[in-house]
Amino acid sequence: MPDGLASPSHAPLVDQFGRQVTYLRMSVTDRCDLRCTYCMAERMQFLPKQELLTIEELDRVASAFIRRGVQKIRITGGEPLVRRGMPELIKRLGEYLEHGLDELTLTTNGTLLEQFAELLVQNGVKRINVSLDSLDPKGFEAITRRGKLDQVLAGIDAALDAGLKIKINTVAMKQGNLSELPKMIEWAHGKGMDLTLIEVMPLGDTGEDRIDQYIPLPMVRDKLEENWTLDELPASDANAGPSRYARVKETGGKLGFITPLTNNFCAGCNRVRVTCTGRIYMCLGQDDHIDLRAALRESADPVRALDDCLDRALFKKPERHDFSIKTRGEAPALPRHMSVTGG
Ligand code: SAM
Ligand code: SF4
Repeated sequence: MPDGLASPSHAPLVDQFGRQVTYLRMSVTDRCDLRCTYCMAERMQFLPKQELLTIEELDRVASAFIRRGVQKIRITGGEPLVRRGMPELIKRLGEYLEHGLDELTLTTNGTLLEQFAELLVQNGVKRINVSLDSLDPKGFEAITRRGKLDQVLAGIDAALDAGLKIKINTVAMKQGNLSELPKMIEWAHGKGMDLTLIEVMPLGDTGEDRIDQYIPLPMVRDKLEENWTLDELPASDANAGPSRYARVKETGGKLGFITPLTNNFCAGCNRVRVTCTGRIYMCLGQDDHIDLRAALRESADPVRALDDCLDRALFKKPERHDFSIKTRGEAPALPRHMSVTGG
């Protein structure tokens, strides 16, 4: 058994509303090689590197959560694959598989997947999410403000060749990719990948007005249903928390919908997020957090201090978020960018 798991507290992480946290999203960096228009500003100010948790600290945080019943860890960011020390982190976290951890996965923009696909597979990663919002090279470059589509497509192919299962995440944007969505769904399903559509969330100032980006997914779904038959899948089949899935009869593939604005899914929330600086955010849509880094670095008994942080965090987990995008010029619901909390 990995050392980090040999410690006394194994009490499950249950919040005030009876929800058990079994899923941790761990951000390993706020940096990224892209600047997606809904996620970041063109000129982002990134954190000084010394503020980030080290690989050892990330490992300790993960093991504290696994001891307390977390079964699934998703590594995210910023772009997780640009973090120095990723091979070491993946190796360390992979060792927890079959010692409490059922699934290790990550969300990536795919630009470095060609380089990392084999390493992920070797360390027990079976499936990943790749974010992709356009299959048009110019459209892709405009949305990401700098990305090269070919690089991501090559990464996706390398990951599929290495045996990874891929789910494509696509943020539906009123101005950006709306007309492309049917083509993207056909493409993903044709390659055996599920695709999930996501509503834009008002997190952080990106220099763009959210009202120009946001399109309610029920409207997108109605449009798709003019040409396709979407058969609703039971929630248990979804295996993905907030996603609601349908089977597209014409393509045979699964299509997910993440609707934080039009259909709040907080009642079934089983997750918390830890940022790259060691803050536990109990809810993506709220600003309340607990600082793990001080406990890790300053306590005489860091294992116990971490456990205390987890207990305090769970006690404070709010019932729900209240995102909305209603008017032009509206301030973001939270100043924090998605890349800081980890999507
Ligand atoms: N860089 C990686 C990537 O893009 O997959 C991981 C981090 S990214 C913050 C995680 C996910 O959050 C991506 O699927 C991205 O599309 C989504 N995302 C970022 N900002 C968002 C926003 N404001 N609203 C909705 N989704 C957002
Ligand atoms: Fe980077 Fe992912 Fe944010 Fe795009 S969504 S800017 S790839 S962190």
